Amino acid sequence: MQNHKHLDRRVAGDGPGSAAPAGPAAGVPVPTGLFVEDDLLPLSALQHLVFCERQCGLLLIDQVWRDNPLTLEGSRLHRRVHEEAPRREVRGDLLIARGVQLQSLTLGVAGVADVVEFHCVGAPSRGREQAPSGAVRLGGVTGWWRPFPVEYKRGKPKRDSCDEVQLCAQAICIEEMLGVALPDGALFYGTTQHRYEVHFTSKLREQTRHAARRLHELFAGGIVPRVERQAKCRSCSLVDVCRPDATSPDRSVSRYLANVVRFLHREEGVEGV
Ligand code: SF4
Repeated sequence: MQNHKHLDRRVAGDGPGSAAPAGPAAGVPVPTGLFVEDDLLPLSALQHLVFCERQCGLLLIDQVWRDNPLTLEGSRLHRRVHEEAPRREVRGDLLIARGVQLQSLTLGVAGVADVVEFHCVGAPSRGREQAPSGAVRLGGVTGWWRPFPVEYKRGKPKRDSCDEVQLCAQAICIEEMLGVALPDGALFYGTTQHRYEVHFTSKLREQTRHAARRLHELFAGGIVPRVERQAKCRSCSLVDVCRPDATSPDRSVSRYLANVVRFLHREEGVEGV
């Protein structure tokens, strides 16, 4: 895997790509088929990409990061999941694995899952037997276990599907690594303290594969996409770096035209402008 630890390291600072005048070159050749480990990109970048391509470009290409109260709260939540709980825990028919390393050579991503639950779906058996659908054997325990990824998020469910895409990418990783099909997983949100089940439909899978292709295209192009002011900019941790109000082409053109009109009216002695 390439050295993309910046997403976790969270280095602050502006980079040259921020000022790039245009989005990533269309049609940038990206590898097709199976990726090799050296070409894997951070799985978590898919979430940023679906949220905002520019945010993803600022993180992945310019390597900038700005914490805000929301991201700090998210970091605390992940720390609780990853560090303050055992890596592996068995509670009856449930085995909980935390901080699980994942990778997918079809998506070309690698990362760490907060939690992968394994639900026991078959009693131990002495002889050879057919595996129950979607179940695997695990070391150190008997029986058949069905994997179920759970991603922890601060806040509440979002309007877009960025969290669902990240979770679906984790599921595809697990499917490739364990050779089983995963029909669903769950997202847990800190604000609502509620767990929402996510079904890995063909539509969500296609959206995830498309996002992964786009991620590699963006990275291969090496150009941070243009700024585009959106309602979500208010909650974006990179708003100070991105400066959508100052750099948005639409805003600056309209402001320029408004100033020209104001100037002309003043010159002509028109009042009330
Ligand atoms: S401030 Fe807005 S346009 Fe800029 S990166 Fe964040 S969400 Fe994207």
